[in-house]
Amino acid sequence: MTRLPLATRATDLVGSIIDSSTSLLAGQRHDIVRFAMGSPAPEAIPADTLRDIAATELGRPDAYDYAATEGDPRLRDALLGVLADTPDAPTPDRLLITAGGMQGLDLAFKLFVDPGDLVVVESPTYTNGSATALSYQAELLEVPVDDEGMQVDTLEDLVARAGRTPKAIYAIPTFQNPSGASMSVERRHRLLELTRQWGSVLIDDDPYGLLRFEGADVPSLHALAGGDPLVFSVRTFSKIIGPGLRVGWVDADPSLQQLLINAKQAMDTCTNLPLQRLVAGFLEGGHLQPHLVAQRSAYRERKRAMQDALTEHFAGTAHWTDPHGGFFLWVTFDHDVDTEALFEVALAEGVAFIPGNAFSPSKRFPDALRLCFASSTPERIREGVARLRRAVDSMGKR
Ligand code: PMP
Repeated sequence: MTRLPLATRATDLVGSIIDSSTSLLAGQRHDIVRFAMGSPAPEAIPADTLRDIAATELGRPDAYDYAATEGDPRLRDALLGVLADTPDAPTPDRLLITAGGMQGLDLAFKLFVDPGDLVVVESPTYTNGSATALSYQAELLEVPVDDEGMQVDTLEDLVARAGRTPKAIYAIPTFQNPSGASMSVERRHRLLELTRQWGSVLIDDDPYGLLRFEGADVPSLHALAGGDPLVFSVRTFSKIIGPGLRVGWVDADPSLQQLLINAKQAMDTCTNLPLQRLVAGFLEGGHLQPHLVAQRSAYRERKRAMQDALTEHFAGTAHWTDPHGGFFLWVTFDHDVDTEALFEVALAEGVAFIPGNAFSPSKRFPDALRLCFASSTPERIREGVARLRRAVDSMGKR
């Protein structure tokens, strides 16, 4: 057989179990409660408003032209306007519109990671992020997460033991994917100090920060950094409007703007213009704030429904996190349950989740799983958790 002349970097492409579950679930014919993907609820998508905006915006021929690489001026202005009064406000020279958060992460690792560089990731982490670092041939250093986010003291110890400092630190500080944990303010400050001490770049990936439904606000890493060039912030409309839009943004030091434009031009020239216009129309029409208010209260109710159902079915046999926002809950069994094996059984029982090992490059979480409470109604959540209980019980009998 002819051997294809693959680049060595191609063998470091690990793929995403999370994303693959989309196709896997699409192929299922029976009723499944979907706790797997991190998607907003179908009823939380402002589809009617978007359809009305589309009727105007997408009827204009200029919506089908190439756009400026840094983003359509209308979307840039609308976004700058929406964020203007927040601690997360970018300036025009820091802003780049991207094809979702994933492209922001890709740009960050592309600009900062050489083969063999040490990159810190949380453990568990959002594997698409760690996979992107691996695609640039990074060496990963996994740092445990607890209820206050990344354990920054442990990070210091692990870096001392590694004998070299990280080139990049990849953090999901707020309502982390997958644990739902948020990093405390003290840890955020300490992480920024360490970043400065080591001269690393801190990739601040925060898609869920606007979806707080409980507890007091914690300033973002971006806000605490006060314009420090070492912080590279990645944001997205995926969780607050809809992931299929594939529209997000990067807020990074102005000295990076031209490099980011050059890198993006070699990827996709510009972000999809019709969808940028759709998002611009949504922001210009003042729809984002009321939409966020409605989403927050729906997700609060759903998280509580999931916690109540977990208490009913799993009290004393598992424990779980208590997120104050975002989409995810992280469940750890107190006894041996192989959640990768459980996945198949649960699917047959009619419930889908993502096994814990999907969130650790070194597979540290065989007995944990991630549940998304955002996508299902409270009634479906109760049904799904009951099905999960039945699946665990039938595993025990096998
Ligand atoms: N970062 C985190 C932590 C996420 O949870 C996600 C989406 N699951 C992304 C980045 C990617 O966002 P997008 O869909 O906009 O590419």
